[in-house]
Amino acid sequence: MEFIDLTAQQKRIRGELDRRWNDVLSHGQYIMGPEVAELEKALASFTGSRHCIAVSSGTDALLLPLMAVGIGPGDEVVVPAFSFFATVEVVSVLGAAPVFVDIDPVTYNMDPEKLGRAITGKTKAVIAVDLYGQCADYERIRDVAGPIPVIEDAAQSFGSMQNGRKACALAPFGATSFFPSKPLGCYGDGGAIFVDDDEKAAKIKRIRIHGQSARYQHTEIGLNARMDTLQAAILLAKLSIFPEEVELRARVAERYSDLLRDHFDVPLLRPGNTSVYAQYTVRVKNRPLVQENLKLAGIPTAVHYPSPLHLQPVFAAKGWKAGDFPVAEKAAEEVVSIPMHPYLSHSDQDKVVQELIRAKG
Ligand SMILES: *Cc1c(COP(=O)(O)O)cnc(C)c1O
Repeated sequence: MEFIDLTAQQKRIRGELDRRWNDVLSHGQYIMGPEVAELEKALASFTGSRHCIAVSSGTDALLLPLMAVGIGPGDEVVVPAFSFFATVEVVSVLGAAPVFVDIDPVTYNMDPEKLGRAITGKTKAVIAVDLYGQCADYERIRDVAGPIPVIEDAAQSFGSMQNGRKACALAPFGATSFFPSKPLGCYGDGGAIFVDDDEKAAKIKRIRIHGQSARYQHTEIGLNARMDTLQAAILLAKLSIFPEEVELRARVAERYSDLLRDHFDVPLLRPGNTSVYAQYTVRVKNRPLVQENLKLAGIPTAVHYPSPLHLQPVFAAKGWKAGDFPVAEKAAEEVVSIPMHPYLSHSDQDKVVQELIRAKG
């Protein structure tokens, strides 16, 4: 059994993939070829954003908006204490100071009330994360943030919705990742930024290509953060079946929840939210043993994430310590993710459920 089955998906779209990458091999525009613009148009329309800017990774999709609002030394950027490392890395790499906020124990997302207490005169941006696929509470987060720009880290929530609006379009800046195992993944690294503001979009496009306003005319400091044409072509092929996959993911997750509800705290969606279930995650008390027992039964599991951000060695060395963000710390000790993808069969799912309940003891 696979944790994420990308082979089943590839079988469905192999013809379209072959056609798409053959097109790229024929026209030869490997950098910023026509597929990139085509993908950006399709993704902007899918999310209901004015602009989509395709970039080289989800990490760059977080970094470029911070650069566009001028984040640097002396600035503070608020991030949740529980996420993938990239969420905070982009803050530190620009020389700004991360300010951690604890999470809600049910959604695993930033607690808006605690956000209010973390904002100071130096706060220049807030990054909220849609962990495991469920969108953070953007109504309250944007309310609390006021004029401070909010960035939605939608690396795990592409395709999810909140109050009828799509993930990536719930804050002034949306950032997603197309890492192969994400809900919409390419065959390498890729990401995208979503923004409504025309000027900010133009600036991010310049930053993506070395701060160029015209060829060899560099009006600001940027980077090379473009998405490869081949990855755009692959994503266009995958996008054709993505809405159906979102449905299939929801069905798999609902079935898991029906079968596990009596034994575990299953994922809970806040009113108005849907989820793409980038991960299907439950809590267990004796995680090492549960994982070992499942492994013996041939069932792969994963932990997202075994350490909260503030206790990563690089931040612990700067003085953060256990006890600073207890909700995040407890989650890091207890969470375990089980196989989750659109093509998970009922029999495999039944096996996971049976073994997980047995392993829990
Ligand atoms: C995957 C992920 C990222 C980084 O995306 P990459 O494409 O791997 O750079 C950032 N934030 C979160 C929450 C993620 O899950």
